[in-house]
Amino acid sequence: MHNLADLERAALPLEPDAGERARLTKLIFAYADRYLESLPEAPAYFDRPDRGRALLDAPITEEGIGAEAALGLIRDHVDGVGINTTSGRFLGYIPGGGLFHAALGDFLAAVANRYASVFFASPGAVRIENLLIRWMASLAGYPETAAGYLSAGGSLANLTAVITARDDAGLEGDAIPRAVVYLTEHAHHCVDKALRLAGLRRVVRRRIPVDERYRMDAAALEAAIREDERAGRAPWMVVSSAGTTNTGSVDPLADVGQIAAAHGLWHHVDGAYGGFFALCPEGAAVLRGMDASDSLVMDPHKTLFLPYGTGALIVRDREKLYAAHAAGADYMQDTLGAVEELSPANLSPELTKHFRGLRLWLPLQALGLAPFRAALSEKMRLARYFHERIRAVNGFEVGPEPDLSVVTYRYVPKRGDVDAFNEKLVEALHKDGRIFISTTRLDGRFTLRMAAVCFRTHRADLDAAVDVLTDTAKRLEAEA
Ligand SMILES: *Cc1c(COP(=O)(O)O)cnc(C)c1O
Repeated sequence: MHNLADLERAALPLEPDAGERARLTKLIFAYADRYLESLPEAPAYFDRPDRGRALLDAPITEEGIGAEAALGLIRDHVDGVGINTTSGRFLGYIPGGGLFHAALGDFLAAVANRYASVFFASPGAVRIENLLIRWMASLAGYPETAAGYLSAGGSLANLTAVITARDDAGLEGDAIPRAVVYLTEHAHHCVDKALRLAGLRRVVRRRIPVDERYRMDAAALEAAIREDERAGRAPWMVVSSAGTTNTGSVDPLADVGQIAAAHGLWHHVDGAYGGFFALCPEGAAVLRGMDASDSLVMDPHKTLFLPYGTGALIVRDREKLYAAHAAGADYMQDTLGAVEELSPANLSPELTKHFRGLRLWLPLQALGLAPFRAALSEKMRLARYFHERIRAVNGFEVGPEPDLSVVTYRYVPKRGDVDAFNEKLVEALHKDGRIFISTTRLDGRFTLRMAAVCFRTHRADLDAAVDVLTDTAKRLEAEA
């Protein structure tokens, strides 16, 4: 017993008392406040050659270093290193966000630690997650029979879709190398990864050509399907993009859906970036046809501005998602029976998981949809604004008018290699750090991208971006 009492005392720090909780909360919230207050002036990219290496000098020890010292390490070697995804001038890749309300939802979800995987275990948490899925389903125009899953991100949601489509078609063994999936070269690379992870490495991938705005050519899709049918292969799935990561282009979803339906294919829409633009009228018009697909991915940690860690998959026919993922075990016997709501554990690869619904539900309930609709409308208009402004600068050449909120462009110097110049330009911008943009290759050409996605990105940020881009390009050209 003496031993037990000692152990109990030694374990006491795991349960801070009210005074210690108040001290920790004050410390952490003061840090968060300072962080947020400094954001308008903070770089969009911290060019730090050490890349936070000093973290390695603070190994995990028996005694610990205390919360203050730990917070100091976060400040100096985590939050001030690399890309700053919380900055309104972070315009690279697909920017994230980090709504404060969502952070508070995370805090509450972690404190109460609801078991959001099984309806019996936390009916409230599961109701919240399923309600959010039904809200997204109705936003996309899906029927009541849809079901889905709040995943850790778009990659996992796409994987879960591929697995569902695979099982629906009964794809296994010798059927795999005969099956064909259709997608463009702009489909996100996680789709290819999902095919590999789902045991479908040997499925035939048909890259369908795109038009001059980088959207899938529907006529070419139909021709490819017919050709595969004639050759005795088994057309299985079309993956279209509701906003490609490369250019933000939206494939002709309605046409693709009709072709898929006519030939009995599963139509999956990857709307990880673009799906939530359905919240604003301009976006809904571009996304027409999304409602007729079989499955759909949307990433709240992109276009609902949540902190990283929340994607979503919606499957039109809930039976198919359930059939591919339902599982049970003897030690779960107490949890069966209550079927008023399907359990996330039976609709996804996960069992125990973070109650990620709360970080989405809290901001939506607290703020309502209006600010989200406005922010997404603003992003679409900002992209057009940037497209016009950068096109007007002598030397810049722009890609197509954006479908959603990504603009492609590059600087064409009077002399010298254009690709090499733009590579140098982006290097100089990263060193400077005031804005962050990323690059891609389009039609073999090194191309700059600007993605207006973060809720903190406003017109002044894009004016600053145009100025920094112009000044840097002119300076490099003069030096060449
Ligand atoms: C970001 C993205 C993904 C991958 O999602 P993660 O949340 O990063 O895993 C998939 N598809 C598209 C179109 C994306 O933009």
